[in-house]
Parts: sequence; C-alpha cells; structure tokens
Amino acid sequence: MNQIDQFITHLGAEHNVTGSCHLLQVNGLNIMVDCGIAQGKDHVIPMDAWPVSPSRVNYLFLTHAHIDHIGRVPELVQRGFKGEIIATHATKALLEPMLQDAMSFSDMTEDQASKILETIDDLSWGFEYDQYFDLKSGIKFKLGRAGHILGSCFIRFEIPNDSSETRNPFPAISTVPPVISSKARNLPINHSKSKTQNSFSIVFSGDLGASNTPILPDPDIPEPCDLLIMESTYGDRYHEDRKQRTKRLGEILTRALFDGGKVFIPAFSLGRTQELIYEIDRLVGASLLAKERGLTSTRRSVGPLCPTENKYQGLTPGIPETSEPPVISNECEKSFNSTSEIPVFIDSPLGLKITKIYSSLSEYWDREAKEILRNGDHPIDFDHLYAVENYKDHLRLMEIPGPAVIIAGSGMCTGGRIIDHLKAGLEDPKNDVFFVGYQASGTPGRDIIKYSQRPGGYVNLNGEKIFIRAGIHTLTGYSAHADQNDLIEWVQSMPEKPGRIKLVHGEPEAQQTLKNRLLHLGYVV
Ligand SMILES: [Zn+2]
Repeated sequence: MNQIDQFITHLGAEHNVTGSCHLLQVNGLNIMVDCGIAQGKDHVIPMDAWPVSPSRVNYLFLTHAHIDHIGRVPELVQRGFKGEIIATHATKALLEPMLQDAMSFSDMTEDQASKILETIDDLSWGFEYDQYFDLKSGIKFKLGRAGHILGSCFIRFEIPNDSSETRNPFPAISTVPPVISSKARNLPINHSKSKTQNSFSIVFSGDLGASNTPILPDPDIPEPCDLLIMESTYGDRYHEDRKQRTKRLGEILTRALFDGGKVFIPAFSLGRTQELIYEIDRLVGASLLAKERGLTSTRRSVGPLCPTENKYQGLTPGIPETSEPPVISNECEKSFNSTSEIPVFIDSPLGLKITKIYSSLSEYWDREAKEILRNGDHPIDFDHLYAVENYKDHLRLMEIPGPAVIIAGSGMCTGGRIIDHLKAGLEDPKNDVFFVGYQASGTPGRDIIKYSQRPGGYVNLNGEKIFIRAGIHTLTGYSAHADQNDLIEWVQSMPEKPGRIKLVHGEPEAQQTLKNRLLHLGYVV
C-alpha cells in the first residue's frame, strides 16, 4: 500500500486546534481516533455527514480526556456506537467526571446523561502503555506516553499489508469530498526500512506535552513508522523555560499578595489546575526550607497570614494531608517565601475531582513527583490548600477577605465560578488576575486582557459592565502542549525518519511554520 492516508479522513481538527476526530479505515475496520467537540470558531464535520454511521465504527481510541478530544463521545453513543473504546487506564478514570460535567451543560436530563455514562463505562477499556495488543483483522496497537496530561498517549498501529487493498471495503473515501484531507494525500510514502514490507505503521501523536511538564514524564520515543499524524498547536511558538516560569510565578504572586488582595486564576480543570497546585506547592515548600535554614529575616511581611482560628473550616482539602517537610532543591523557587501561608482555594468541583484522580494515580507521575512522595510530602497538596466543593462554601469564600489565591474555572472566563469572583473583585486594584492558558477571541478572558490596557477598560460578565482595575498578568508556558522545539525534538528522537508526516491540530500559520522547519530538516511532510 503506497497511499496509506487515502484511508484516513479527518473529521475534525485538521487545520484548527479543537474538535479532534480522525477516521482510519483499514482491513474492513472503521477505527476512530478521538471524538472531540469544537470550541470557539472551530468546526467539525457533523455526524450526519460522516462517511460511516457511528453504529459502524468498530473501535474508538481516545488519546486523552480533554473535552476537545472526547466531548462528542456521548453523541456518538446516542447515535448508535457500540464498538469498543480504548484508552489508557488513567484516561478511562478521567472520562466519567469530564463527560458528566460536559453533559451538565447540554439539554439532556440527568437520567439520560447517567445512562450514557453507564454505556460508555461498559464499552471502554483501560490499557497499559508500551505493550502491543491485537485488534481484529490482524491489526496491532500500542500506546506511548505523550506527556500532555495524566493518561495522555500517542497510538501506534501496525497494519498487515496482505491484500488489504482488495479486502478494504472503503476504497472510495473520496466519495465524500468535503471531508477529504488535502492534496498531499496522494503523495507516495517511503516505507520505514526497519520494519517488514508485510505491514505498514501509523502513529497518531494526539496532543504532545512540553518537555519538563510538572508531574508527568516527558513523551516516550516513538518507534519508526510509515506515516506520522502529528499535532502542531504551537508549531510556531516557543515556551518559557519551566524554571524561569516558576520563578516568575513566585515573584508576581509575592508582589500581587503584598497588599492583602486576592489573586484569581481562571484555569482549566484538567491538567492546568494540577500543574499550578504542583508549582505552588513547590514554591511553598521552598519557602519552608528557607525558614528552616534561618532565612526568615529576608521575608517581607504581607499583612495577615492564615489566621490561627480556622475561618476556612469546612473548606477542607479532599486530597491527602502532608505530614513531613518537603525536600526542595531549586534555588529559584525561594522567591515565593512571603506567601507560604496564604490560603490557596480550588473553587471548582470538577477541578477537585480531577485533582483527586491525579493524586491517586502516582504510578503515572514523573520521577520528581514520585521522589517528593517518597520523601514524605504529597506533591499536589500543602497545608494551606483548600477545597471548595459545594455552592454554599463558594458563597462563603466570596465573603472571605484577602490575601488569598483562588483557582476556578472556566479557563477562558466563559462561565463557572470564576465569573462570581471577577464580578466581585475585578474593580478592586488590590486584586490580580493571572491568565495561564490560551484565551480565544471573543471570550471574556481575551477581553479582560485586551481592555485592561486601556484607561476606563471594562468587560461584560453575564450582561454586567465590570471595570477592570485589578492587575492583569499573562503567564506563558502553562500550556501542556509541546512548543516547536519540543515537537521537532520528538520527531528527531525517532530512530528513523517517518515515511511521511501529516500535520493536524494546529492553525494554518502554525502548521506552515512547523512544516517549513521539518522540510528543512529533510522530512517528507
Ligand atoms: Zn489536550
């Protein structure tokens, strides 16, 4: 087979970053990789226009549990999908809370939603990384660590080549022109030299993590393959180095809390929230170490710290308590020394559920996080971290004065509890807002950043005009996505060049920039 990508239809995220959904049609099987919702201006192919109906999809692979990769699974099930859902164990654990939350915004009744969740649970299977497993028709697959969020994977398919062209019942994928990928799809591919000519191999990268992502190991090195379908979200960007970023987080948190105000961090519940808690935990730990070494005299006072009488009672963490002092080695992290006792609130029921799952699946952590745990600390928990689960406590939190750090969703301020905090706190210059993720155009998050630069700038929140007088900060690098260098390094880590690379999951400019760099390095793209 020389034109393998004739058998791949991109049903979403071919030239944008949300709505991931790819259909691989080989050896009589319909194999889907991800089934996510589109966000903002992005679009996906409606299921009615798919080349196969959901009931004929045999396998659905999920690379990870972000909603732009799994959000349409309930609809897929409603429309008759009854194949197998394949993911890592951690992704399977994350499916229920993520989809339950997503369905709570739909017009489904609770009963309908719980039936769909039950069906998804029945159909889905958790798999280990690094092992080959068999599908029907002699196809094998293996999952590799993608380092993006907990449980994220890239997928390698090994497809036997014997007479597959004649056996494949879907040779005429071009009968659905609107969903055909691109002109490049007729390019011949070079077969990988290290493998037999009796099979061909395809790797779907899913979303790849940046190197040195907190908590997670870096992406695994992929085996050689004939075709690599690779994400390109940040194909034209470079992230701030993690050490620099942590230092900056400590410095601006210290500054922001100096006057007793609140810091609001709108954050996505899965991935970003846990990364932030981990980084703040390290910063807190570093300051405790500084105190132990007699360095307390260098600390600035920030007014009333966490009081001795527990006014936060009831807002208790749902994650394990720490008992031993943490072991910290990074000098740069000491910049957080004046904020070590300031309360940090996770005001997000979904964020809390996900944090508990992150906390409990330590076998998926990187060496650093495991080492911290071995030394008696819990890397995603600290003494002044509080969980705000129910709405009553959320209202209580609104009344509590600063200083405080409040992490709440949604990440782009399009809804959720962050809206209440911003409505109450955005007009107070003592407060600060830290944006740690991409803010799509047209979202309140993007407007706050934009209009904070102008005198008299304001934002509309739920129809209310709120002036932006709080300090507004944007921290880059908390993206959980590989940047251009990470993507290039990942491809270069393969023992052999892939036969061909097809870029997906990126804006056209990002794809073009990454493509040029790959072409320059001698890859077929
Ligand atoms: Zn993702």
